[in-house]
Amino acid sequence: MDKSASMRETLKTYFGYDSFRPLQEEIIRHILGGNDALVLMPTGGGKSICYQLPALLREGTAVVVSPLISLMKDQVEALCANGISAGALNSSNDETENAALRRACMEGKLKLLYISPEKLLAEANYLLRDMHVSLFAIDEAHCISQWGHDFRPEYAQMGILHQQFPQVPVIALTATADKITREDIIKQLHLNHPRIFISSFDRPNLSLTVKRGYQQKEKSKAIIDFIARHPGESGIIYCMSRSKTESVAQMLQKQGIRAAVSPTRRDEAQDDFINDRVQVVCATIAFGMGIDKSNVRWVIHYNLPKSIESFYQEIGRAGRDGMPSDTLLFYSLSDLILLTKFATDSGQQSINIEKLQRMQQYAESDICRRRILLSYFGETATHDCGNCDVCKNPPERFDGTIIVQKALSAIVRTEQQISTGV
Ligand code: ADP
Ligand code: ZN
Repeated sequence: MDKSASMRETLKTYFGYDSFRPLQEEIIRHILGGNDALVLMPTGGGKSICYQLPALLREGTAVVVSPLISLMKDQVEALCANGISAGALNSSNDETENAALRRACMEGKLKLLYISPEKLLAEANYLLRDMHVSLFAIDEAHCISQWGHDFRPEYAQMGILHQQFPQVPVIALTATADKITREDIIKQLHLNHPRIFISSFDRPNLSLTVKRGYQQKEKSKAIIDFIARHPGESGIIYCMSRSKTESVAQMLQKQGIRAAVSPTRRDEAQDDFINDRVQVVCATIAFGMGIDKSNVRWVIHYNLPKSIESFYQEIGRAGRDGMPSDTLLFYSLSDLILLTKFATDSGQQSINIEKLQRMQQYAESDICRRRILLSYFGETATHDCGNCDVCKNPPERFDGTIIVQKALSAIVRTEQQISTGV
């Protein structure tokens, strides 16, 4: 059987899909050839198959580095359910479990081993030497870069992998990396002449809307109206703080809407959400990584996110099944001021302020919002999308010279003593 046929057959047998999505086949072929790759695909684009399928077709065990234990657990369960031998080595297992897994690795009985970055480094000279590693997959690879929006120090040392295992291909995957982050990932991981695969970040099924300057009461009303227009449909509301998630959830519960808070009772909320026992989850940013729920129909941002990367990743959790889904962002000056303060106080002031300014640019845009998003990820849209609020209600332009003159004169006459009140 030729390579394409055996790849397609494996896809069908183990995953039940008839065809590859754009880029998947090319990426898999590249990895099967023993080469390094950096893969950028939006959330829900289908990154997992890009290393899971080569793992099945190459000899030995693929080692998958993943930052979140819950995410590993979900992936391993899904793989085992598909008849693929997989396991996760992490500190939440008991010793017997880990010992059995180690043995399975050494005996070559496992096709995929998920491992946390800390454990990986600890095992680089032990377990990894005693097993046959078919490939390394570094998931959420942006975590390695200080330029990324979610730097994790434990990722930083993973560069040693390629030095210690020069023959083993490395595939780095992320849904979120601007140009300098990409370059940094390649450098830090010492990828060897990697091919960079960037799938389109366009998600035309997600509508984009921004509401500006709403006070709390107006937000509550807008959210209730929004949910009324989405009866019974699952959605996520992202808030900046834990206390906000709680008050929003309570506000919804009072209206008889099944809403839960995450991550207070994290696993429970996630589980209830996946199984449609709650309709809405009010969450801080951490929620949703690795959630494979295809029918999330909407995402609301109660507060302004700190970067377009975070924003895009979060709205990307809606509409993974490709069906129309709605996103709504509330934008207020007070959020912007608070986030500017956080960015100023952070260790990477200039980069975080720059990211925030790009987010502000999106929120204040008077041209197609999708153009702004795509240009952020280095894509050029050739036409307006027709599925954002700017496209649907283009701003009216008029000569405002006199109004502005009046306003400026009022500011001068009140000696700049009156605040804007937003
Ligand atoms: P990502 O890790 O990029 O967020 P996943 O790998 O979890 O995305 O895939 C997202 C969804 O798309 C999953 O439900 C997955 O089963 C599905 N999927 C992936 N590849 C294909 C394919 N070739 N055909 C159909 N569905 C696919
Ligand atoms: Zn548009």
